[in-house]
Amino acid sequence: MELRLTEIFFSLQGEARTVGCPTVFVRLTGCPQRCVWCDTEYAFSGGEKWSLAAILEEVGRHGARYVTVTGGEPLAQPHCLTLLGALCDAGYQVSLETGGAMDIAGVDERVSVVMDLKAPGSAEQHNNRLENIPLLRPHHQVKFVLADRRDYDWARFMLDQHNLAERVSDVLFSPVQGQLAPGQLADWIIEDRLPVRFQLQLHKLLWDDARGR
Ligand code: SF4
Repeated sequence: MELRLTEIFFSLQGEARTVGCPTVFVRLTGCPQRCVWCDTEYAFSGGEKWSLAAILEEVGRHGARYVTVTGGEPLAQPHCLTLLGALCDAGYQVSLETGGAMDIAGVDERVSVVMDLKAPGSAEQHNNRLENIPLLRPHHQVKFVLADRRDYDWARFMLDQHNLAERVSDVLFSPVQGQLAPGQLADWIIEDRLPVRFQLQLHKLLWDDARGR
């Protein structure tokens, strides 16, 4: 059994509930989506094939408690489900970053799913798999990346319509870097008293989005 990987690296988690925690990232290659503001286009193709055993060995080398499986779109590779289970069996706190277009039904119950819902400004809104919403669990997270006021209003509608704040531990609102001023998004959230977590991507603040950090 092999998976195609773009990189494995050790850094601080840049976002979501464990932001700031030392984490090993396993970045799987390939994504069927094309968000206009994607910041990991280098993971769309290429990569190298890794056996499950080699991935587990490399992850173990870093001695971290947290492992994040990301992409690209990790769930586009069916063996991702086996990898997630194996990482949980090995005792790691595992999270999965998924773009929201693929079925999350087969994901190991122990994994914290961080699922995007793509706003209109991404140009991928039509691919949101809304059938995933009833599958969300209290330890999961939902992420919105917002480019403008239209995206914000849509995210607010989805929050309300699907009762997201009650379904998951964290609903994350992030601005698209260079498109929506972080302070503006923060002001809207405060004004509307939204039950969400505002976040900036820590790795971009620390290392200016350098690859592998
Ligand atoms: S789903 Fe993620 S990796 Fe794929 S295009 Fe969108 S932002 Fe990029």
